[in-house]
Amino acid sequence: MSGRACSVCSRPDRPELDAAIVAGEAKRGIARRFAVSPDAVERHAKAHLPAALVKAREAEDVANGDALLRQIQDLQKRTLNILAAAEKDDGDARVALVAIHQARENVAFLSKLLAEMRPAPTAASLRAAAEKVAAKAGLSADEVLALAEKMAREAEGKGDA
Ligand SMILES: [Zn+2]
Repeated sequence: MSGRACSVCSRPDRPELDAAIVAGEAKRGIARRFAVSPDAVERHAKAHLPAALVKAREAEDVANGDALLRQIQDLQKRTLNILAAAEKDDGDARVALVAIHQARENVAFLSKLLAEMRPAPTAASLRAAAEKVAAKAGLSADEVLALAEKMAREAEGKGDA
């Protein structure tokens, strides 16, 4: 018996059959509905279903990870748009500084999320943006970045109070 292929695993409608087992449908009823022996359903449920569930779970995790990544990418795009608007000559330097801080956090989170990802290409453009704001404010880019983080921390502190 051990060398025999599972008659349930090889079925084209196996996903529906697995779903019926997971839903708690009676094995006897499943066997009747899918025209297989109750023993085969029982054996398949015990021996093969857990692996299938783990695989489904992994696929779900990957899908969730992709959704999270898309959200961060969307957030970063919007942050950089705010930064671009604030950088204009009539823009608000304070908004630009907060946006730089937020964009840095987005990049850091993205890098953490994708540990194997090469350095985010946005880091360089972020630095360039800081330099532009720095030129306008008569500071160095490092001073602008440090100031942006200080202001963001103060803003967070106010939010807590
Ligand atoms: Zn099976």
